[in-house]
Amino acid sequence: MTDTRTAIVTGSGRGIGAAVALRLAKDGHKVAIIDLREEDTANTVDAIRSAGGDAIGIGADVSKSEDVTAAVSRVTEELGAPTILINNAGILRDNLLFKMSDDDWDAVMNVHLRGSFLMSRAVQVHQVEQKWGRIVNLSSTSALGNRGQANYSTAKAGLQGFTKTLAIELGRYNVTANAIAPGFIATDMTRATAERVGVSFEDFMAHAASEIPVGRAGTPDDIAAAASFFVSEEASFVSGQVLYVAGGPKA
Ligand code: NAP
Repeated sequence: MTDTRTAIVTGSGRGIGAAVALRLAKDGHKVAIIDLREEDTANTVDAIRSAGGDAIGIGADVSKSEDVTAAVSRVTEELGAPTILINNAGILRDNLLFKMSDDDWDAVMNVHLRGSFLMSRAVQVHQVEQKWGRIVNLSSTSALGNRGQANYSTAKAGLQGFTKTLAIELGRYNVTANAIAPGFIATDMTRATAERVGVSFEDFMAHAASEIPVGRAGTPDDIAAAASFFVSEEASFVSGQVLYVAGGPKA
């Protein structure tokens, strides 16, 4: 029997975050859905509530300190002190290095790295107080290097170092930190990449699947299953790890 905890999943209005939020609710947790605009959280919140779960939706930009402080306070008041944090919010600003603008670089660093830092710093207060916590950061196979993603691959590799340091600093408070590094997952993010390179999403997925050992693209539920394990009670001795969920051993 799982103890009920309060979880925050950032960027969970859609895609991987939404699947993780639904899964954590199914596992018995109360879930705060954070996305840039509160109205974009409605679908995930409704899906959780209609399945009998407890959820609230909050509009916040994870890269803004004041938004993060206000969001975590609201979660604490309305759902209880958050002790599970999934840092999932993410953006792409792909470009080859010679065409990458200052803004392309800063925007990606701000959402992935600054956002995960601000959220983790705000939530660890509650985790340390409760002497229990779980942090899961969304990295990517792109952390190993990917053409056109100097900004994104740097941020995703950075998140792996961040995860390991959180594991070292917070372990004594019974808080674990792990990272999931997805491979190709069918979401709006990969759909947008297909559009950018001028290929239909179906062809883009088929090409990706042809290079993945298990012969298919990943789904948001594949990532949700890994997140469910990392936040479980029985994963308390697993910390500072990076799990590649990519249908095979290589990016
Ligand atoms: P997605 O469909 O684009 O969803 C990302 C969500 O994050 C969106 O709802 C977006 O809001 C939200 N978001 C963006 N910036 C935010 C901010 N500053 N504050 C709060 N929320 C923000 O992406 P996804 O494919 O589900 O990806 C989720 C995570 O997995 C990301 O970290 C991504 O890098 C990682 N990942 C994805 C893949 C993949 O193949 N899909 C592979 C490896 C890693 P808006 O709707 O308003 O933009």
